[in-house]
Amino acid sequence: MILHCPSCRSIRIAANHTGRKVCISVGTVAGAASGIATATCGARIGATVGAFAGPVGSTMGGLAGALLGGLVGGVAGGSAGAALGDFVDEHILDIFECMECGHTFSANSE
Ligand SMILES: [Zn+2]
Repeated sequence: MILHCPSCRSIRIAANHTGRKVCISVGTVAGAASGIATATCGARIGATVGAFAGPVGSTMGGLAGALLGGLVGGVAGGSAGAALGDFVDEHILDIFECMECGHTFSANSE
């Protein structure tokens, strides 16, 4: 599908992903924050499992559990944020900008 500017019919259109960028950042931070909560739980499980291998195993297990929880939370939050950002871009914000006349419009407004 070739997009035309609704104002001047130019095909020199640039996509603008402001919502996506913002939501990815917010989602990653929120995900990492919830991941840290999960990490505390992961650390406890890791420490318990690692305890079978002695004090070093307990420390290593706790560390691995915490890292995994934070990482998984951050990645999950980032993907959720990207999906939300795409939705915001497509349905709420004007995501396309005409390079000829500077007119901004959404994919639905054509
Ligand atoms: Zn235009």
